[in-house]
Amino acid sequence: MTFTLAIVGRPNVGKSTLFNRLVGKRIALVDDRPGVTRDRREGEASLGDLEFTIIDTAGLEDTREGSLESRMRAQTEEAIRLADAVLFMIDARIGLTPDDRSFAELVRKSGKPVILAANKSEGKVGMAGAYEAFGLGLGDPVPLSAEHGEGINELYEALAALM
Ligand code: GDP
Ligand code: MG
Repeated sequence: MTFTLAIVGRPNVGKSTLFNRLVGKRIALVDDRPGVTRDRREGEASLGDLEFTIIDTAGLEDTREGSLESRMRAQTEEAIRLADAVLFMIDARIGLTPDDRSFAELVRKSGKPVILAANKSEGKVGMAGAYEAFGLGLGDPVPLSAEHGEGINELYEALAALM
């Protein structure tokens, strides 16, 4: 069994951007059962010498029943359940929103090891949000730019410590 990392967070923080950066090979779009699993993407990721399975969560593109919010939440819970560790992502430029706090609560409740990633931190413009993120009680945020590939070494260190 490979180590599995779930990328969790509210929409638009950059989860899929990081997924795409780390994944060399897409494993599956999971299955098409009714419910929440369909939008979960899994892939084989590598980061330096670390190899692991990564799960991206989306949950926004279909019209199945249930509010968007409840489906996002259920999908996130499922991804966390499957994971050995969680990468919880926030948008460092925006800082914490109520949605960030409710996703953070799911992560905290799971008791799984967590890496707190403050994305969109390129050029250090996102430092204010990163400071706010300290207050989540999920550890020190790792400033990251999934889009520009910054902070990847720090992400490596954080992940290596868990695997
Ligand atoms: P998701 O909904 O969490 O999967 O977010 P996406 O990966 O789809 O990204 C949402 C938006 O944020 C897109 O427009 C991305 O180009 C942008 N984005 C992602 N990562 C970064 C980053 O590191 N810096 C900046 N400035 N934008 C980013
Ligand atoms: Mg996405």
